[in-house]
Amino acid sequence: MLGKVSRCVICSLSPRSAMRQERVRQLAKRLGNESVYPPMYRLLDKLPLCVACMEAKLPFQVGPQCLVCGRVMMNTPDERCTDCQRYADGHLLQNRSMMAYQEWGKEVIRQLKYRGDEHLSAMLATLLAIGYYRYYSHIPFRIVTNVPLHPSRLRERGFDQAALLAKHFAESVNLSYFPLLRRVKNTDKLSKQAGRFARYQSMHNAFAPCEEWASRTWKAAPHILIIDDIYTTGSTLRACASAIHSLPSLSQASIRSLTLFR
Ligand SMILES: [Zn+2]
Ligand SMILES: [Zn+2]
Repeated sequence: MLGKVSRCVICSLSPRSAMRQERVRQLAKRLGNESVYPPMYRLLDKLPLCVACMEAKLPFQVGPQCLVCGRVMMNTPDERCTDCQRYADGHLLQNRSMMAYQEWGKEVIRQLKYRGDEHLSAMLATLLAIGYYRYYSHIPFRIVTNVPLHPSRLRERGFDQAALLAKHFAESVNLSYFPLLRRVKNTDKLSKQAGRFARYQSMHNAFAPCEEWASRTWKAAPHILIIDDIYTTGSTLRACASAIHSLPSLSQASIRSLTLFR
């Protein structure tokens, strides 16, 4: 893969350096335990980035995180954050996000949304795969799905960036992708909305499960992973999880989410 990459996508310098292998190795050790080291190394090495950018520009989450939503909490490891103590509704078991949403994240998400860049979505899916090995590889997911766009937005844009990410991601970690949800309410752009309650209200009943899943039967309640680009307050992902749980056949499913940024 690296052989095809002539330039680091962040700084445009050649991604090859004598030290690359050793530093990718160190980063792989820092991000995961021994059991996931081989895929971690392979995925990091595949990123079209020079090591300097990999180390300096990717704001990987570090430190103890809220057990539920993954918020970094410096002082209280192995706890739930105040938001999760207050708002947890039991539908979304857990969220994990790979990186802090800073300058670079804003730029790549903008590029992905408005251009649907295939190379970019492949790289971001690789970062999600690194997140999967970091946080979730012990969970036997049966279904990978995504937060869907409303059909009218899909027509406008021509592609669904979260679906693109989820498909690439599922492929790279050998899981099965299915479009499980549809968006039935065209919510206002979240950035225009103020406050958590407004987000909650606008997301409430915004999603519904696709009917074909109603008739499926499961030997055991399946583990489901929802992919999205950004976790903001979690109201979108929680609305997706409760839509999945509304199907009797999936009412016992264990639902988690993985996002690139938060
Ligand atoms: Zn670079
Ligand atoms: Zn939390």
